[in-house]
Amino acid sequence: MSETLENLYSETRQFPPPADLAANANVKAEAYDEADENRQWFWEQQAKRLSWAKPWEQVLDWSNPPFAKWFVGGELNIAYNCVDRHVEAGHGDKVAIHWEGEPGDTRSITYADLLKSVSQAANTLTELGITAGDRVAIYLPMIPEAAVAMLACARIGATHSVVFGGFSVDALSTRIQDADAKLVITADGGYRRGKPSALKPTVDDAVAQCPSIEHVLVVRRTGEDVAWGEKDLWWHETVEQAGDKHEPQAFDSEHPLFILYTSGTTGKPKGILHTTGGYLTQTSYTHNAVFDLKPESDVYWCTADIGWVTGHSYIVYGPLSNGATQVMYEGTPDTPNRGRFWEIVDKYKVTILYTAPTLIRTMMKWGDDIPAKYDLSSLRVLGSVGEPINPEAWMWYRANVGHDNCPIVDTWWQTETGSVMISPLPGVTSTKPGSAMTALPGISADVVDDEARSVPNGGGGFLVLREPWPSMLRTIWGDDQRFIDTYWSRFGKGAGVGEDWIYFAGDGAKKDDDGALWLLGRVDDVMLISGHNISTTEVESALVSHPSVAEAAVVGATDPTTGQAIVAFTIPRGNVDTSGEAGEKLIQELRLHVAKKLGPIAKPRQIMLVAELPKTRSGKIMRRLLKDVAENRSLGDVTTLQDSTVMDLISSGMTSTK
Ligand code: ATP
Ligand code: MG
Repeated sequence: MSETLENLYSETRQFPPPADLAANANVKAEAYDEADENRQWFWEQQAKRLSWAKPWEQVLDWSNPPFAKWFVGGELNIAYNCVDRHVEAGHGDKVAIHWEGEPGDTRSITYADLLKSVSQAANTLTELGITAGDRVAIYLPMIPEAAVAMLACARIGATHSVVFGGFSVDALSTRIQDADAKLVITADGGYRRGKPSALKPTVDDAVAQCPSIEHVLVVRRTGEDVAWGEKDLWWHETVEQAGDKHEPQAFDSEHPLFILYTSGTTGKPKGILHTTGGYLTQTSYTHNAVFDLKPESDVYWCTADIGWVTGHSYIVYGPLSNGATQVMYEGTPDTPNRGRFWEIVDKYKVTILYTAPTLIRTMMKWGDDIPAKYDLSSLRVLGSVGEPINPEAWMWYRANVGHDNCPIVDTWWQTETGSVMISPLPGVTSTKPGSAMTALPGISADVVDDEARSVPNGGGGFLVLREPWPSMLRTIWGDDQRFIDTYWSRFGKGAGVGEDWIYFAGDGAKKDDDGALWLLGRVDDVMLISGHNISTTEVESALVSHPSVAEAAVVGATDPTTGQAIVAFTIPRGNVDTSGEAGEKLIQELRLHVAKKLGPIAKPRQIMLVAELPKTRSGKIMRRLLKDVAENRSLGDVTTLQDSTVMDLISSGMTSTK
């Protein structure tokens, strides 16, 4: 981006919060003013949500920026905060996790059950020689043992590194090596798409390349045969036989809690390090504020995998620190049928649902009739995370899932930020479809131009964070310099401009005329068309606003006259005829539709109708590969793709339309 981002998309629809929700909301509008008046005081109040073994002496130590220390001198145990204290408060019989296996088997785990399992696992890890500061890799399917393993590590001060269960030998072994882990916790496998999917063979191959690993702890989930080596131990023969009393020890507020590698949408993943007190303070606060969680009556469900930061902060640490009852689901949304999600919402009477735009668009493609078959009336708050949500996908979510009266919280954040940073508050904010609206109380987000100047309302540019926040990453594991270079050297003091340290998130954004924030995708994806910086998100949203389109990905391809030209890959909705002439007609109609919606500058040069888009394993569109296709290059690295055959299909379609 040379200067600022063009602001082409305008949205006039707006939805105030339902009156009863607003009246009873956990967080009211005053929170913004309180936090503005004194940010540190505000976060100090939120830290009091937790139980501290030793109080902090200083809220924030920012004397060595960009290395922050929060709640300096304070000590606490994360597992105690997520489990023991709820049992001590008399909620031992309360269900913490309603677990639903893909084949339909279920388990309901109370807080007392969780305390027992976490204590047993903590005892086992200790027996295996794991002590505070050691690293433990966790490579598990979505089974309750994943949460137990994470909490057991936290309980004894071991730093966990969860690796998504769909990753390859290479991805697993490089992560184990980077963190120098001593133990891997895994399973024989898990269920995916109606059949067992093995995990242990991947671990065996990875461990063969990782001499640091002393033991492999294996949960039996599928019961399939597994090869067995010297380092292997069954979970049911160790953890489930271990003593169920374990005294939690308090750790320093800055004790390392976990390392998590970013999704890898833009390239090589970075090992993001999070610590204890600040992280739990902000995940706990935001989970309570953003979802308006009422632990006594809500049933919360986050559909993310535990292998992503959303699973860490909003399946494990946020909800459990708040004593929530939640649903955890093992499998895919279309097994055994495309109504599985809605069946689960109906079955457990889910009140708060947190999912991703990729899933919402997939459901849109599958058709409105599917959610219509289920009773979704229990839902009261809906959330979205992971990518910009197109306004029409937002409207679809509201109408077909949220029966037109659930507030939608579009939450912007990153692995690096640890917790939600920009989001509506469901009882306060009048939401606009497609906008994450405003920074949460206590968070200072801004949109700036090339020179770090705040852009006026109506302008677009780079999303930055101007003040440190409690759950911020502390560094990139083992690479402080890369931490500084990646996040702090684009703007502000780190870039030699001004006196303040400014965090650059890597995303483009705009402020609309009311100052609401719109996330416009990664700045690496911004297109330069005839001298205008145009975001892929706005063009994609314009395409998705056509009733025949479910999903779209847009890239800028080199063009002799305009510098770059817009090439769009579009997935039609399920009922749309795209054969022969009908397809050609639709393409022309879509080009005109975009031009009408955003202006002639944004009219795509070319539109391809496709059945699938290349996505990362966390479900995010990978535009750089589409750009390779659009520019007739051989494909770059496809190893982080969910399904690499998608690219062959798209590439062959591309040549045939030329
Ligand atoms: P990598 O950094 O390795 O390329 P990644 O950025 O996809 O991977 P994550 O930390 O999982 O890894 O994702 C954070 C990014 O996801 C954000 O920077 C932003 O681009 C996008 N994102 C998340 N939530 C939203 C949202 N609500 N609206 C728009 N974009 C979002
Ligand atoms: Mg990122």
